[in-house]
Amino acid sequence: MGKALIIGAGGVASVCIHKCCQNPDVFEEICIASRTKSKCDALKEKLDGGKTKISTAQVNADNVDELIALINSFKPDVVINLALPYQDLTIMDACLATKVNYVDTANYEPLDTAKFEYKWQWAYRERFEQAGITALLGSGFDPGVTGVFSAYAMKHQFDEINYIDILDCNAGDHGYPFATNFNPEINIREVSAKGSYIEDGKWVETEPMEIKRVYNFPEIGEKDMYLLHHEELESLALNIKGIKRIRFFMTFGQSYLTHLKCLENVGMTSIVPIEFEGKQIVPLQFLKAVLPDPASLGPRTVGKTNIGCIFIGKKDGKDKTYYLYNVCDHQECYKEVGSQAISYTTGVPAMIGAAMLLTGKWNKPGVHNIEEFDPDPFMDALNKFGLPWKESFNPDLVD
Ligand code: NDP
Repeated sequence: MGKALIIGAGGVASVCIHKCCQNPDVFEEICIASRTKSKCDALKEKLDGGKTKISTAQVNADNVDELIALINSFKPDVVINLALPYQDLTIMDACLATKVNYVDTANYEPLDTAKFEYKWQWAYRERFEQAGITALLGSGFDPGVTGVFSAYAMKHQFDEINYIDILDCNAGDHGYPFATNFNPEINIREVSAKGSYIEDGKWVETEPMEIKRVYNFPEIGEKDMYLLHHEELESLALNIKGIKRIRFFMTFGQSYLTHLKCLENVGMTSIVPIEFEGKQIVPLQFLKAVLPDPASLGPRTVGKTNIGCIFIGKKDGKDKTYYLYNVCDHQECYKEVGSQAISYTTGVPAMIGAAMLLTGKWNKPGVHNIEEFDPDPFMDALNKFGLPWKESFNPDLVD
């Protein structure tokens, strides 16, 4: 059906590429392009021989001209951005210049400030509309599936949704004292930032990890979870009717938090460059270099993830609660695609989002968050491609 250019060859990209190859009628041809071409070649070698035709390329995604040249030579129908959030705008610029659809899994973040906001990408709306191309923002799990779950709840279960709690539980154990499950730099920037949630249309800010709750997760059990700022809060508060409050919680074990605190206390999580032996280095980037590569966690990680949304609202004048979630097993993911569940739960929805655009099931020129589209074909695809969802009409609530 079409051609996809996949930018990035890390943990998430690897899963997405495996999944594109499992869906060859839609992904007839893919090009894997990243900064380090050897990683692209290694993926091609692993997956070559199936129906999907694979090529590779080297690209610096910070450079718009290089991206344009690559797009002009490969001529994709969609670009799937699985590099880092810093590259979102350059890749969107290249898509605009070449009139190609765009998909990503994380919103733009400037390198020098850890601040996740959609304003930079939403500023492209009119230009994408005029070019007749679609940018699908946030097609991972959270953001991503959490937005699809919200759209599905709104469409099928509620007249209005007043409260959403997004709960992200990773009960996986990789056996290291400290490691992050996806890009360490992005992960640590996210969890060391102030927390926030939206109440009555306004952001309420908290200190990092200030709000803690304990939740009994289906198929996992009780875990400590902490309120974090998360990017989908901003778009869901606008796109889901009737929202009074929306929060995001993520589970962390005590060992992770103790290590993080210690690293913070000694300045290792700072993104402000320092001079070291005559060279400027960013402490957090140095820390990334000494931590385990998230892609190497696959074989060692055991346990499950449970990510989902609890909705509280009204249907036919009556109060209603509804919980939609997915449980994913780290070892099952590893057996299937050679990656742990965090990369898996992000890479599968990235493939599905791109498939929605390639098949024309989703086609809305402009720049859109995922909950703005019809959730039904995406929900079907989740069941088909390894992330089946479950529902509960009587969940435990978070106070
Ligand atoms: P990795 O660090 O494993 O992979 C990033 C890839 O991007 C690497 O291959 C890297 O190349 C490449 N890259 C980085 N900079 C450039 C550049 N300038 N030009 C070309 N390629 C570049 O990250 P993950 O796979 O863990 O994460 C990928 C994305 O997914 C991130 O944006 C992350 O925020 C997002 N994510 C989203 C989630 C969600 O649920 N929505 C959850 C988890 C992650 P090299 O190999 O040379 O370093």
